[in-house]
Amino acid sequence: MPRYDYRCRSCGSTFELSRPMSEASAPASCPDGHSDTVKLLSTVAVTGAAGRTAPAPPSGGGGGCCGGGCCG
Ligand SMILES: [Zn+2]
Repeated sequence: MPRYDYRCRSCGSTFELSRPMSEASAPASCPDGHSDTVKLLSTVAVTGAAGRTAPAPPSGGGGGCCGGGCCG
């Protein structure tokens, strides 16, 4: 049975519950009795975290053949 992490917004504590997936989104009660809880996504695997972008090479100016009037 999967376990889910929840956080109580009333007292700020986190707790873990084992419950079937069909009840994963059902309201969970804090061990202290609070009902204002949210489910945490701690068990979801992170995919594609490394989204690095390679720095673009500097576009060279340089060849200024027609800039100097040599082309006609
Ligand atoms: Zn609580």
